[in-house]
Amino acid sequence: MTDRSSDAALLDAARALDAADPLAAHLDAFAEAPGVTAYLDGNSLGRPLRDMPEKLAAFVREDWGTRLIRSWDEQWMALPMRLGDRIGEVALGAAPGQTVVADSTSVLIYKLMRAAAAADPARTELVIETGNFPTDRFLAEGVAAETGLTIRWLEPDPVHGVTVDDVTAAVSDRTALVSLSHVDYRSGALADMPGITAAAHEAGALMMWDLCHSAGVVPMQLDAWGVDLAVGCTYKYLNGGPGSPAFAYLRHGLQGVLRQPIQGWWSAEDIFAMGPEYVPSGDIRQLLSGTPPVTSMLAMQGMLDLIEQSTIAGVRAKSQSLTDLAVRAYDEVLAPLGVRLLSPRDSARRGGHVTIGHPDFRDVTRRLWADGIIPDFRFPDGIRLGLSPLSTSHVETITGVLAVRDALESDDD
Ligand SMILES: *Cc1c(COP(=O)(O)O)cnc(C)c1O
Repeated sequence: MTDRSSDAALLDAARALDAADPLAAHLDAFAEAPGVTAYLDGNSLGRPLRDMPEKLAAFVREDWGTRLIRSWDEQWMALPMRLGDRIGEVALGAAPGQTVVADSTSVLIYKLMRAAAAADPARTELVIETGNFPTDRFLAEGVAAETGLTIRWLEPDPVHGVTVDDVTAAVSDRTALVSLSHVDYRSGALADMPGITAAAHEAGALMMWDLCHSAGVVPMQLDAWGVDLAVGCTYKYLNGGPGSPAFAYLRHGLQGVLRQPIQGWWSAEDIFAMGPEYVPSGDIRQLLSGTPPVTSMLAMQGMLDLIEQSTIAGVRAKSQSLTDLAVRAYDEVLAPLGVRLLSPRDSARRGGHVTIGHPDFRDVTRRLWADGIIPDFRFPDGIRLGLSPLSTSHVETITGVLAVRDALESDDD
């Protein structure tokens, strides 16, 4: 067993950081999870807010149960756009009228990729990367097969992710779309969104960002940086709950220009015209397809309020403090056991999670879960420490890292 002398110092440092944390009061806004001592998976499924049971009950009793179908006119018809604007304002640096909430991330990626792929027949290539999340890669392959486009694969450094130079070397006057993740789901590497977007535009290509691991934790300026299209999850750092619908951003200048393929009645100019032919809406509603999942849009609203109160810059500052502490603890107690750091060391270059690797981590994760320490495991041998800033303390972070060390050591016995 390794020496435990640094444990007390790490815990003291964590307590001091918690005491000075301007956002610490928000920890109490989240529901308790009996038996869980460290929840390190808020980047996969954010925790519910404490007031969710009352909010859900009130929704069933009043909005649905009493107002009945009148609620569509009174509030639900506008909800995909209203919530989209709110996400845009609080988390994306997007002016109103460019973001909607709908469908799953996968479906929205398909719609936007398909629209971008067809935008200019002279452009025949999609640029994506080999390390991106599977759904993004699979959808690109599907869109390529459907449209006859060719995929040009980037093979970036697995820890540091895609660079501006990688993109510049791959794009040309054949590129229709460059589609990348802002924060890499495995390494946590944070891409240079303004630099890469500019590099895609230099070649005349459209740029789309997957914001699943950055929305609600890393500030961005979609409008100012000229991003064309973006999609992201709401159940990760926006705490919308399992299966809450995704959001899509389409900048004003492309609305009415690009055409998405699932042209259901909610995307028509006049939903209730019920006319013989389809006329697409000229505004952001054109990205919708059918009736939105209203119940699944409830939970994210409270989280957006919390992020707004904290400011996204404040959330990011706490996120960097948490991940820096996790890396310090890694250096002190995990590196000596042969654990690899699979995330960038500089917090300016990473998002909200830190990934570490060891051949025994699959088994270690299973045992940690049984003990109420919940990180997640990513093939082949990575543990992601997902530190959702508003719901995670520094002490919880250290508790998690020390538990990984303990589980790893008992594994050797
Ligand atoms: C979580 C995640 C998704 C999830 O897509 P769903 O359609 O919600 O299942 C997609 N892309 C990335 C990068 C993700 O991290």
